[in-house]
Amino acid sequence: MVTRARGMAQLGTESAFEVLARAKALEASGKSIINLGIGQPDFQTAPHIVEAACKALRDGHHGYTPAEGIATLREAVTVDLHRRHGVDVDPGHVLIVPGGKVTLFFAVLMFGEPGIEILYPDPGFPIYASAIRFVGAEPVPIPLREADGFAFSAEAVLERITPRTRLIILNSPANPTGAVTPRAEIDRLAAGLLQHPQVAVLSDEIYSRLVYGDRSHASLLGYEALRDRVILLEGWSKSYAMTGWRLGYGVWPAELIEGASRLAVNSHSCVNAAAQFAGIAALTGPQDSVARMIAAFDERRRHVVPALNRLTGLRCGEPGGAFYAFPNIGGTGLSAKALEQRLLEEAGIATLAGSSFGRQGEGYLRISYANSLENITTALERLEAWLADRGDAR
Ligand code: PLP
Repeated sequence: MVTRARGMAQLGTESAFEVLARAKALEASGKSIINLGIGQPDFQTAPHIVEAACKALRDGHHGYTPAEGIATLREAVTVDLHRRHGVDVDPGHVLIVPGGKVTLFFAVLMFGEPGIEILYPDPGFPIYASAIRFVGAEPVPIPLREADGFAFSAEAVLERITPRTRLIILNSPANPTGAVTPRAEIDRLAAGLLQHPQVAVLSDEIYSRLVYGDRSHASLLGYEALRDRVILLEGWSKSYAMTGWRLGYGVWPAELIEGASRLAVNSHSCVNAAAQFAGIAALTGPQDSVARMIAAFDERRRHVVPALNRLTGLRCGEPGGAFYAFPNIGGTGLSAKALEQRLLEEAGIATLAGSSFGRQGEGYLRISYANSLENITTALERLEAWLADRGDAR
């Protein structure tokens, strides 16, 4: 009998992939399933980006690249960060990685060990707590509440810091709630963190471009006093419809970039060269396809939220970013998991239980509107009919 490392028993998963597998199996058996479960844009990567990767392969870029990423790409990342957030970043502090998740894993590996606490949002991206547990550190949830529009509160973060806290993970715009934490709250948090100079922050801003209405995204990189301990998690997956390319980046403080690069050398060596050329084209080329995609998400958002609020038993606040609605399902009398399963099996709609994003997600359902307006409309009709007809209605 083999003996595995203790962390393996602690490793969680993303139920999005399990639901996707079940949805595919149901479809294979002839059922019609509308997928509002998976968190990826339903758009194709723009042709000029695809062409840049093909050209890179034709031009013979088949070998390893520097572990930190191609210099032109790291430079392009800093130009983009300056354009969008007005911040100056040294290209030497950018680490190109295979997807946003890798920056998260590296940060948790760098700071986490038994006896250490790491704060993370609940409900939040399930990989946060999974990675923290894997390294033997203690995950400390920061509860996010519907009453605050699921934005994190500076107070809730600061009051959870103890002498054992080494890292705080924050996420705005957020998965699974779509919440955009207002700049004033981030100002308060940044001011409070000055009292805790030993604590690093991982700011997951993978949805930073997907912000709607009059809201704006405030990057943690914009706080000069925190620059020596803020790690930015960003990437191409969500904003350029490039989830399958596996391309992301981290911006690391001067003191940490060397360690992060070593983690890269020790794990993946470098990112697929052609994908990196695609990343350069994405950042430096025309941005109109991004603008079109964001406009489409916004249109769907404005359609989905009022429609959900018209349904008996559901109540949904307005998400300001990403592509998720997170309705309260308390009025259905069902647990989040039961509703997720029954909607999939009985109504042909794939969604995700809020409880798969942490304890605070119980009583909510994540609905991804990264699907066509037509499919969303059909799914909402199915949902309405199912709620009206279900045999066990209260
Ligand atoms: N962070 C959040 C909040 C996410 O929702 C996701 C993907 O769903 C990621 C990070 C990971 O992105 P990637 O696919 O680039 O690894």
